[in-house]
Amino acid sequence: MNTMVYVALGANLNEPVQQIQDAVLALKSLALDSIITVSPLYRSVPMGDVEQPDYVNGVAGFNTDLSPIALLDALQDIENTQGRVREVRWGPRTLDLDILLYGQQVIEEPRLTIPHYGMKQRSFVLIPLADINPHLILPCNTELKSLITREMRAELIQI
Ligand code: ATP
Ligand code: CA
Ligand code: CA
Repeated sequence: MNTMVYVALGANLNEPVQQIQDAVLALKSLALDSIITVSPLYRSVPMGDVEQPDYVNGVAGFNTDLSPIALLDALQDIENTQGRVREVRWGPRTLDLDILLYGQQVIEEPRLTIPHYGMKQRSFVLIPLADINPHLILPCNTELKSLITREMRAELIQI
């Protein structure tokens, strides 16, 4: 069965825009008929206290027949292929791929929380997600657009 999924894209090392473009190509291989919608890309200030370059962020949406865990495995393979090294939490990385939404499913498993636990607070996720699906309703029945504040819009610069 095919399910519409949304994946957050983030990078802040080794030519981040190129990293995101490479990731989009890799994601196509997971998508039904290789069709994938990609938002505009944005520059954002890093979360947390680690000194590191600004991030490039975006969101991709596509239909897939992968199960949630198989999708997570595939995303982690792509991160690893693009040289992701796991060091400090919220530290710099060549590529971060987070599953935001898997259809309207709510998943609470040791390796996987969907919807992504931080998405409602993160401008760099909400804004590109709304770019590609302005009318999206989250599984909790909240309208995506209602979560986007003026302050969030002021935080992001479109590339
Ligand atoms: P954050 O999760 O706050 O955005 P991060 O992306 O830097 O931080 P990672 O080190 O990339 O965190 O991931 C830690 C773990 O989060 C992964 O190994 C994965 O098992 C788990 N995880 C839970 N839910 C999700 C999800 N929806 N998408 C991706 N990974 C998830
Ligand atoms: Ca993340
Ligand atoms: Ca992640």
